[in-house]
Amino acid sequence: MHIKELVLENFKSFGRKTRIPFYEDFTVVTGPNGSGKSNIIDAVLFALGLARARGIRAQKLTDLIYNPGFDDGAENAGPNEASVEVVLDNSDGSLDRGQIVNAAGSEDVGDVEEVTIRRRVKETEDNYYSYYYLNGRSVNLSDIQDLLAQAGVTPEGYNVVMQGDVTEIINMTPHERREIIDQIAGVAEFDAKKEDAFEE
Ligand code: ATP
Ligand code: MG
Repeated sequence: MHIKELVLENFKSFGRKTRIPFYEDFTVVTGPNGSGKSNIIDAVLFALGLARARGIRAQKLTDLIYNPGFDDGAENAGPNEASVEVVLDNSDGSLDRGQIVNAAGSEDVGDVEEVTIRRRVKETEDNYYSYYYLNGRSVNLSDIQDLLAQAGVTPEGYNVVMQGDVTEIINMTPHERREIIDQIAGVAEFDAKKEDAFEE
């Protein structure tokens, strides 16, 4: 499974609907400072519900909505809603249909070779709302998390390696480093289950 495309609408510096294609093996994003490269990573973290664990660069969710006066520190007089869609190529069946049906809470999940996860944030006068969609169906964050966990994508995982993570890993004790490898290899899950079993 891999990301095939991102569709950003009014997300951070992307004030226009923007489609960003990703290749199967390797994609590099280049551009001048401040052109929005890191915002693309933030978009992935936001949409997949990984933001809190992996350190998205925003004080609050509503800061993620495109603000034409952002660099001048102006109040947002722009749109009141942002959306990011992550289109996943699932043609290798990393997520099977049953898992998708389960997460969407419906048999009617459409194309399972191309799975889309979308998140919107909407600001009102005195509040804000966040919505997740799986193949167009409204779901909860936990549904998205459960689904992604089947493909080894978890909030604590290293599917997204942020700036500073590498230095942090170098500075870890061998034991802490081992825990990361266990996590990536999928062993940690069984360790946790074993511990639970001993406690019972
Ligand atoms: P660098 O090479 O320095 O790492 P970058 O390409 O990663 O740069 P980003 O950090 O992705 O750049 O983009 C930063 C820019 O995004 C800021 O200059 C700011 O103008 C813009 N930005 C962030 N949030 C918003 C927002 N809500 N509305 C409009 N623009 C925003
Ligand atoms: Mg950057």
